[in-house]
Amino acid sequence: MSQPAVFFGHGSPINALGGPHADAWGRLGREIGKPKGVVMISAHWETEGLRVTAQADPETIHDFRGFPAELHAYRYPAPGSPALAERVAALTGATPVKEWGLDHGTWSVLAHVWPEADVPVVQLSLDRGLDAAGHVETARRLTVLRDEGVAIAGSGDFVHNLRTWKRDGGDAYPWAASFNEAVKAALLRDDVEALTNWIDLAEEAQLSVPTDEHFLPLLYVAAQRRRDDAVEFFNDVIEGGSISMTGVRIG
Ligand code: ZN
Repeated sequence: MSQPAVFFGHGSPINALGGPHADAWGRLGREIGKPKGVVMISAHWETEGLRVTAQADPETIHDFRGFPAELHAYRYPAPGSPALAERVAALTGATPVKEWGLDHGTWSVLAHVWPEADVPVVQLSLDRGLDAAGHVETARRLTVLRDEGVAIAGSGDFVHNLRTWKRDGGDAYPWAASFNEAVKAALLRDDVEALTNWIDLAEEAQLSVPTDEHFLPLLYVAAQRRRDDAVEFFNDVIEGGSISMTGVRIG
């Protein structure tokens, strides 16, 4: 059976410790069931040249500072899959590496999607040498994996502006809300081209995507869509004015 592609708005690492977003990730996991593996593209692994994690036991990376000790000690012991890494490498030209592991963009989410940590995870890096169209091209080489029982996942945020983020919460900025809606509309009409040119999607789009690493993983998921795939949103809220938690399941 074909596996879905899912983008997760991960927001703060603190979501790993539970709450409504984590609950929604758990529900999604129960709906999807267990794929043979997952290829995850996280906002938090940027490299020069494309890389894929190839360890049998990837480590849990705590790539953040100043959070509760419980979070710094958190471990998500999902296995890797050297075989899946080789397959991804063959499809995309990525170099299999024994560096990196699972960063918080990956484990803060997957720890709730598959809490038993029994779905093998490989991470594919964001190659800084690619432009947006290059990321889409790389993404499309992964689509065949869906028919081999492998889910494709991206983890970032449609809207990610920490400079304007309101620690104590508050309504979404109008520019953040309109950008979030424009992204959803483009996904619904399967307009990967518009997503690739995200700066033209809405007024003041540069405020929603001041740097592109949290947006690019969405391209990897959007590019997986096939004609008969359903599109479904979850966690569709904006936190602290300018961090979108919106996720989308395709297929
Ligand atoms: Zn992040």
